[in-house]
Amino acid sequence: MKTCSRCIYNETIPEISFDEDGECSYCKLHDNMNNEYPTAKNGQKILDEMANKIKNDGKNKKYDCVIGVSGGCDSSYLLYLAKKMGLRPLAVHYDNTWDNTIAVENIHIMLKKLDIDLYTYVVDNEEFNDICRAFLQASVPEVDAATDVALTTVLYKAAEEHNIKYIFNGHSFRTEGISPIGWFYFDGKYMQSIHEKFGKMPMKTFPNLWLKKWLKWLTINRIKRLRPLYYLDYKKEEVKKFLTEEFGWKWYGGHHMENKWTIFCDNYYMPKKFNIDLRYVEFSAFIRSGQMTREEAIKKIKEPIPVEDDLIEEVKKRLGLTDEEFDNIMKAPKKVASDYKTYRSTFKLMRPFFWLMYKADLVPKSFYVKYTR
Ligand SMILES: [Zn+2]
Repeated sequence: MKTCSRCIYNETIPEISFDEDGECSYCKLHDNMNNEYPTAKNGQKILDEMANKIKNDGKNKKYDCVIGVSGGCDSSYLLYLAKKMGLRPLAVHYDNTWDNTIAVENIHIMLKKLDIDLYTYVVDNEEFNDICRAFLQASVPEVDAATDVALTTVLYKAAEEHNIKYIFNGHSFRTEGISPIGWFYFDGKYMQSIHEKFGKMPMKTFPNLWLKKWLKWLTINRIKRLRPLYYLDYKKEEVKKFLTEEFGWKWYGGHHMENKWTIFCDNYYMPKKFNIDLRYVEFSAFIRSGQMTREEAIKKIKEPIPVEDDLIEEVKKRLGLTDEEFDNIMKAPKKVASDYKTYRSTFKLMRPFFWLMYKADLVPKSFYVKYTR
């Protein structure tokens, strides 16, 4: 098995290639992004300009930006950063009813100390469970797509309601990494087609990201999505320590582990059924940005992925699946997004439009690169 000489991505990663020194194309992509999004003095300059623009556009408004919060490390730090930039954020939480208690406490601790208002959207839990069950039955890897799609919609909704022009996203490619092209796909039509085929309840409270609505938010409301952490030398361990000491924030045991459904998807369903181990993405990012050595990563990746026994039982119970039904789901032949209806062909046709949207900071570059090819 060929493995990158710098990170731990290997030839099983989709669309990977290696140069003559054995370094992979994703490491190259990281280096390109590292140049495109500078840190230190140059990064600070960009953040200052960003803050001025947001303040200007937010004059006479109660809030000037929206920040999605999960209780996790990145979104918690983003709240602190926004305040430090002199902004007036509105925190937005999408509650899929599977929140971890520590995560919820974290949200409240941060908001109280920073004096930030919260906008929460709670989905009907039976309806959300119905969507989860439908995705499991569809046998695709994106069983947590519902959370990502809904969070995106709720962020736009909150921004529209309060006439806010900016959405902050807590992604940091230096820490979270660049997920391999083709590992995941999600959009509003994909949600709908799987739910129509396998779901049992009508979609009433689930905030789906319909294309028509999204285009309105992009072109009429002109709501921009920004990633401020790209301009910081963002080090996960240091940030965790800072949040704990400064705010009494608590670590909940792993990346994206603030939600039980996400833990099930990332730590059990995807690795067991699809051989997708997200730690490759995270550890490789840590190596590239000097937060972990390659030796350390090789050692750590051999450790089993932690999953509590109770969690699997809880998933079966909440989704009303018998042991046999659950086993059948785990054994069913694997499917991919292209086996179902999606917006992909529409996105492809709209590639020039989305290029303009990316250039205007209205959609993230990763969307343009991955979804319109
Ligand atoms: Zn690499």
